[in-house]
Amino acid sequence: MTKSPSVVWIVGASRGIGAAAAAAFFEAGYAVALSARSVDACRSVAAGLDPSGARVRAYRADVADFAEVASAASAVLADFGRLDVLINCAGVIEPIARFGAAPPDDWARALNINLAGAYATIHAVLPALRASHGAVINVSSGAAGNPLEGWSAYCAGKAGLAMLTRSIALEEGEAGIRAFGFRPGVVDTEMQVSIRASGINRVSRLRREDLAPPEEPARFMVWLASGAGDDLSGEEIDVRDPELRQRAGL
Ligand code: NAP
Repeated sequence: MTKSPSVVWIVGASRGIGAAAAAAFFEAGYAVALSARSVDACRSVAAGLDPSGARVRAYRADVADFAEVASAASAVLADFGRLDVLINCAGVIEPIARFGAAPPDDWARALNINLAGAYATIHAVLPALRASHGAVINVSSGAAGNPLEGWSAYCAGKAGLAMLTRSIALEEGEAGIRAFGFRPGVVDTEMQVSIRASGINRVSRLRREDLAPPEEPARFMVWLASGAGDDLSGEEIDVRDPELRQRAGL
């Protein structure tokens, strides 16, 4: 009997690092569920990988909407029957503004996406992850540990996400769930286009040619999901760590 493939749900996979992760996990043999607000872009990514739709499917979910996340989670589990890896890659950099100038509603909305959104997806699939002894990868950032001018909402959200990662590892480790905070480096995506346009801090002044391609963090996440890095559960893991790069074969 052929073994059914492991299943990954990549949240925030319409473009950028999430879309590259979809390709890397597909190539590694996973069945891939991908979601974002722009479901048409997710469908294009899915069709580019697996036109048959047998092993890659697209779903719409705004992570700031708990009901939408719950219904996408139900659809993923109904379609694939299990979940082995959840990747929380959805994120926004806006509002880019110094503390006093950031509109309060925009500030709170960023936290709803970057932090509460990850809570929502984990909560929605927790029984499935317990059943599979699965893994959660929360896509973090150096901003989780260092304040940067104009990014107070982003930094606070990623710092909170790091604590969410530790909390999941603490509470669900006995159930066999591993949780990782993953810092992907400075990556050439649309988010970095907005960052460069702002000119607000040192990251915004990096040259595009100095950014890493999204395929690099994508490959690292496949390694992280494989079980080979399980000793790192609960930690913030930086793709630029030389020792870890060697372990991951980068
Ligand atoms: P990106 O190209 O802007 O992609 C962001 C992804 O998040 C898109 O798929 C977007 O899809 C999705 N998303 C945003 N808001 C969402 C919402 N409310 N609900 C569902 N999906 C949502 O950015 P990226 O660089 O690939 O970033 C991916 C992750 O890496 C983010 O968490 C980011 O903070 C993190 N990160 C990036 C860098 C970097 O240098 N690029 C560095 C450190 C960390 P829709 O707009 O269609 O919803």
